[in-house]
Amino acid sequence: MEKRYDHQKWESKIYSLWEESGAFKAKVDKSKKPYTILLPPPNASGKMHIGNVLMIAIEDLLIRWKRMQGFSTLWTPGTDHAGFETQITFERELRKNGKSRMDFDRQSLYKNIWDFVIENRELINDQIKQMGASVDWDKYTFMLDNKVIKIVTDTFKKLHKDKLVYRDDYMVNYCPNCGTTFADLEVKHIKRKDPLVYVKFPISDNKKFKGKDHVVVATVRPETIFVDTHLAINPKDKHKRQLLSFKFQNPLTGKKMEIIEDEFVDMEFGTGVVKITPAHDKNDFEVAKKHGLKIISLLNLDGRLNEKSEDLEGQKVINAREKTIDILKQKGLVEKIDEDYQHTVSVCYKGGHDIEPTILPNWFIKVDPLKKPAHEVVKKGQVKIYPKWQEKKYHKWMKDMHDWPISRQVVWGIRIPAWYDVDENKNLKITFLSKQKETITGTVGNLLKEYSLAEIEKGLQTLLAPKGAVYKISTEKPGERYLQETDTFDTWFSSGQWPLTTLGYPDSKDFQYFYPTDVLETGWEILPFWVSRMLMFGIYLTGKAPFKDIYLHGLVRAMDGRKMSKSLGNVISPDEYLEKYGADALRVGLISGTANGKDFNFPKDKILAYRNFANKIWNMARFMNLMIEESNKNIPIYSKTLESKLKKQDKDIIMSLEKTIKKVNNSLEKYRFAEASETIYHFMWDELASNYLESIKDRNDKEIALSIFRHIYLNSLKLLHPFMPFVTEAIWQNIFKSSDKPLIISSWPSLQTLPNKNINK
Ligand SMILES: [Zn+2]
Repeated sequence: MEKRYDHQKWESKIYSLWEESGAFKAKVDKSKKPYTILLPPPNASGKMHIGNVLMIAIEDLLIRWKRMQGFSTLWTPGTDHAGFETQITFERELRKNGKSRMDFDRQSLYKNIWDFVIENRELINDQIKQMGASVDWDKYTFMLDNKVIKIVTDTFKKLHKDKLVYRDDYMVNYCPNCGTTFADLEVKHIKRKDPLVYVKFPISDNKKFKGKDHVVVATVRPETIFVDTHLAINPKDKHKRQLLSFKFQNPLTGKKMEIIEDEFVDMEFGTGVVKITPAHDKNDFEVAKKHGLKIISLLNLDGRLNEKSEDLEGQKVINAREKTIDILKQKGLVEKIDEDYQHTVSVCYKGGHDIEPTILPNWFIKVDPLKKPAHEVVKKGQVKIYPKWQEKKYHKWMKDMHDWPISRQVVWGIRIPAWYDVDENKNLKITFLSKQKETITGTVGNLLKEYSLAEIEKGLQTLLAPKGAVYKISTEKPGERYLQETDTFDTWFSSGQWPLTTLGYPDSKDFQYFYPTDVLETGWEILPFWVSRMLMFGIYLTGKAPFKDIYLHGLVRAMDGRKMSKSLGNVISPDEYLEKYGADALRVGLISGTANGKDFNFPKDKILAYRNFANKIWNMARFMNLMIEESNKNIPIYSKTLESKLKKQDKDIIMSLEKTIKKVNNSLEKYRFAEASETIYHFMWDELASNYLESIKDRNDKEIALSIFRHIYLNSLKLLHPFMPFVTEAIWQNIFKSSDKPLIISSWPSLQTLPNKNINK
């Protein structure tokens, strides 16, 4: 054996050895119990972050432990398409070449992003390998593989058949300038100065409030008053509550307005009375839904005001705003204007244009019939959440869950299999690239007078169907005169079916054997978005929850205790630690830093300690080999027949090993990983190395002591293997040079400490 353990030399060699041994490959074996884990798919075009490392460390630990215990194990790898995020990254690349997504039709854009992702995803796959993950690569799944698309669209069809799909209005971030919607992620919030106009809203019926015949409402968007029907106050604002019995007049249209109370109203803003514009403000939209208010749009999708704005119809927002202020001034309804008002404005990331929150029809799923059984299985303890205190969050989320808008206005995702007959739906709004590469927008009825349907379909960028549009759900194009929906599914809609798509639902052999899976391990922050959805879909489609246990790990914070973020400059890159200290030290260091699912600071000291530990156990093996060589004797294989020759310290260390095995098993059964790793660490370092090893140097019956030592050491290596797979396997390979059975598939130490053929080869 070399003097020192060199992780850089061993890690890739050992990984190849495992792969070649076939140890990762899952086998349907009816004589064995299955044990299954799904790797939560990282972003295919992203890089591994420290949270991914923790996740892989924990899952690999569980799967290796169960594999050694004789289960038929399956750990499925895969990557996510990460809809919006990936499209943004890709568009950034486009901009470097002076292009944008608007230069492509939908299909070409999809194809280009596909190529980009495939080119990049080897990086994350390599990183998963570097971590030592014993996943079955034959089962690799990408979220946009055909097999996934088929299952996901079939589920949508079933939901539709079961009358759980509908279309309804939903508020999106719309940029009239770019002519498209943006995800929340794509919206930037900037500070800006804008005039804050204090508008008088006349009180009806000659009533007065504090001696005045009007109330004042401050707004940066006076043009939206055209569609306002309600004012609002905060119920805690005692002075203003008498306004609740008043009626008001719309300062622009003269129409009657009412006032409501809602806690969302910021008493500190303006005068404490606010106006509600449900069609163009996210908060107002929520309030309107809650109070059943009418939702009236003011804007067309080209960013111009519609007929609701009377004489201002056809004007762009900015012009209309100035003109509205003039109209109000003429009516004597402007109290004052604060020209220096500083506020936060949402703009699109692409061109910095003002975002117009707009109502667009979206696809929804009725969640009640899906969420009830998913909630029940946790309530009844059929699915257990570890740590238990996280359960509260689940119950709250399930209680509060509303119908789910599942459509997204991006290309990079699974396209919704809905089709519109263009003759039946003449008012479909279309944007497409013509043969001349011009962007053409209009209703399909009008466009078809000038362009062929084939040209429109080929250059199609977006299609907007009004709420009442007639559609067909179908995987194939249902007829000549149809156009497909351009929206894609929310990524959680497809990843929510991950247990089904990765295992080959409904009739593959793997699915029948390995489903339901055993434990779903992930960060607690995606419990509501992901875990709940997997439970919903799993039960809806199979009648069985997709996993028995849910283990939620805490977030790894920066060393300074803050959340890691690029802007704070405290992001820890796994690569640096992998290179310096090795995968084992990083893995087990993180694991031993966890505090039963609580968030924790990056445990650099633990990583260093375990790097030293790797060297320590390496040296123990060298020392053992050396002593065996020096003794020049045949060291008997440890067995019960040696019992009569044992000294007290021998019996003690054997007992102690028994206790350690028991404790490690118990801790792992309860998902107490830090406790388990520390138990082995202290046993090997303190009891075996510092005490027992020291004591045998002076013994006359060295062959007995060495026999015991070898027995204890090899069992300890096995216990440590799931935590530190590389160094333990490297040692194993050094000890058993001719062994055809690597440590990864050796059997887990049993409690009787009986001689094990495999150890004593
Ligand atoms: Zn824009």
